Amino acid sequence: MAEQGQLVVYYGCMFAGKTTALIDYISNANVKPNELLVFKPGIDNRAAKNIITTHDGKKHECLSYDQETILSELITPYTKLIALDEAQFFDKIIFSDLKRLLSKGISIVAAGLDKDYLARPFGLMPLLMQNATQLNELNATCECCNNKATHTYRKESNKVLVLIGNENYYEARCADCYQLGLAAVIKA
Ligand SMILES: [Zn+2]
Repeated sequence: MAEQGQLVVYYGCMFAGKTTALIDYISNANVKPNELLVFKPGIDNRAAKNIITTHDGKKHECLSYDQETILSELITPYTKLIALDEAQFFDKIIFSDLKRLLSKGISIVAAGLDKDYLARPFGLMPLLMQNATQLNELNATCECCNNKATHTYRKESNKVLVLIGNENYYEARCADCYQLGLAAVIKA
């Protein structure tokens, strides 16, 4: 039986450097291009479909993952590492596929938001975090008080869960300033 693959997870709020950590992990993983598959969810349309980018300008080529994507068809005998950016947006259905790949010795690295803007567990992330062999919390800086930020605060009152955006819509906040922001919205 093949040795079990590693499941490495980077999680945190927005602006915590998750995609940067993912790209750094890939760069340091010592895998050849044909041994690597990088995916981002098709829903993420902030940049070109075939590239992941960071807020500080790092880039990596990727494949767009959508409903038509069949993971098993993209795996080759050479595949050693699969990377998922914005992992919260991947359908939970793919977790059984990922587990099978791990059991075949393929490693997975994922980066994503652990909580949505209402501080609820976000999509696929809880499953990845519960099963991680290496779990890395990343933090941003609170926009209000400069303490360690763990929450994503939505500045707009738009209630659509998946509002893909950047600093126009969201800011990083510590738990206290996040709660104060919510209380202010409820009062208003
Ligand atoms: Zn704060």
